[in-house]
Amino acid sequence: MAARQAVILGAGMAGMASARALQRKGFRPLLVAPQPDVASRGETLSARAFPSLEALGWLDLLGDDTALASRGRFSVWGSTALRRGAAASEEVGGWHVDRARLEARMATALAADGVDRIAAEARQLMRSADEVTIGLSDGSSVTAEFVVDCTGRAAISCGPDTLHRLDRLVACYSIHPLDDDVEAVAATLVEAVPFGWWYMSMMPGSRVLVGLFTDSDLLPSGLRKDAPVWAGLASQTSVIAARLESLGIDLATSAELQFASAATVTAATLVEGRIVRAGDAASAMDPLGANGMATALWSGLRAAESIAGLVGGDASIAVRYEQQFLQGIASHLATQAGLYASEHRFADAPFWQRRRDPWSAR
Ligand SMILES: Cc1cc2nc3c(=O)[nH]c(=O)nc-3n(C[C@H](O)[C@H](O)[C@H](O)COP(=O)(O)OP(=O)(O)OC[C@H]3O[C@@H](n4cnc5c(N)ncnc54)[C@H](O)[C@@H]3O)c2cc1C
Repeated sequence: MAARQAVILGAGMAGMASARALQRKGFRPLLVAPQPDVASRGETLSARAFPSLEALGWLDLLGDDTALASRGRFSVWGSTALRRGAAASEEVGGWHVDRARLEARMATALAADGVDRIAAEARQLMRSADEVTIGLSDGSSVTAEFVVDCTGRAAISCGPDTLHRLDRLVACYSIHPLDDDVEAVAATLVEAVPFGWWYMSMMPGSRVLVGLFTDSDLLPSGLRKDAPVWAGLASQTSVIAARLESLGIDLATSAELQFASAATVTAATLVEGRIVRAGDAASAMDPLGANGMATALWSGLRAAESIAGLVGGDASIAVRYEQQFLQGIASHLATQAGLYASEHRFADAPFWQRRRDPWSAR
């Protein structure tokens, strides 16, 4: 079979943005990704995603069942006072999304666009001067002139030498339905504690996510099996505990606890021969900045423009994309370091010491 001009690996926001953009440019992209298995984690889609969603013609996918307009972020960070704004010194705004539903809508829109999709995992990439052959989990293979790697934290095109892990952040979280008579503000609450930070956010469908971000080696023993340990940790907070009580949420008896890696991992290069990386496959960031999905959409678009340029023999767009992305990471890391440094209260706690001295965190 003739090589496809562009094959996109992964169908998260980066992959789907890339597929949509390439299709609109007149290409026939092929999307390769397993059946969706998306865990919504009470994500906030930053207002920075607006221009990308607009460019993709996807603003109308933000409906009542997929997104709630955010009333902002409130935090206990750097002092015991509850403040609006920081733990991000700027307002995040945007929407509290149900990522699984939003991505399902994007997938339906792509199917309606006629974008081809193979439901399989890419297992290996064989690169030659003219093409890339992708071995798939179903035993078949496809050949592409160019590949967009949007496989998220799996970053299938990266060898161990290409990826740099900067910390060991993990998230544990549970999702709770609210009783019909409970009204909650669509906002995010962040509270710093000695071993990390708590996060609480409204989700569409009258649900609340409660999450704890800490380092994998600092996770209390028994947490994985024992809901009362989870509830006990939350009871040591001030604002989070009060909010749980006011919403009638009892962590000891309700929901199942889930875990996800949230470490900052970045690829050294974004454009490598015939492969262009986007989204978390290029750089997966600490969710404190609530910027991952906006970056996935933006970089998916820019990766598509890069591929269009490369197909036409113009590498300058890809070079600019890589430069801009790497500059963005540097600025994001500096902002993040400033945020962590603004919490002075837990000077002796390993979680905060590591963020003051990043070299000790790996
Ligand atoms: C706990 C947590 C909370 C977060 N909160 C926020 C938040 O509030 N706001 C925010 O903006 N961001 C948040 N993020 C980050 C955000 O979820 C990601 O940055 C974003 O979803 C990345 O999108 P992506 O398309 O790059 O990758 P993903 O969404 O991970 O998609 C990857 C795709 O690749 C597929 N895939 C994987 N391996 C293969 C393979 N071998 N072959 C083919 N396909 C493959 C997967 O099935 C999937 O379709 C959070 C992350 C975590 C862990």
